[in-house]
Amino acid sequence: MLDITDLYQDIIVDHNRSPRNFGKLENATRVAEGYNPLCGDRLTIYLNLNSGNIKDVRFEGSGCAISVASASLMTEHLQGKTIEEAETIFENFHTLLTKDHVQANMAVLGKLAALSGVKEYPVRVKCATLCWHTLRSALEGKETAVSTE
Ligand code: ZN
Repeated sequence: MLDITDLYQDIIVDHNRSPRNFGKLENATRVAEGYNPLCGDRLTIYLNLNSGNIKDVRFEGSGCAISVASASLMTEHLQGKTIEEAETIFENFHTLLTKDHVQANMAVLGKLAALSGVKEYPVRVKCATLCWHTLRSALEGKETAVSTE
């Protein structure tokens, strides 16, 4: 298992066992799918955007504990945020996982800091960032037919 503090490990185990915001979002305005062939993680991100705000974000899929916990933490953290805020959070999250916590703005990351231990396992960084890359393609994508309202 990852060499991280017990607290962080508890958060990851908890979010993997009971993922938050899991399941299809019926009134999604954007949908994107992501796949991490290195690990076999597959995620679908559902977004409900309203004038630059993330009104709701949910996910579906299956994968390793890190990919599921990361998607769960991400969807929890992004509820009600603006697209701009989401981009800032992703940049800092990426810095946290690829550089170090000194360079990352921990204040904007909140509970996402629980995934900082992933840095020690470079192959796992793709598991933790899959949901974010998928979110980004959903943000850049066109409106989809999923929209019902
Ligand atoms: Zn994985």
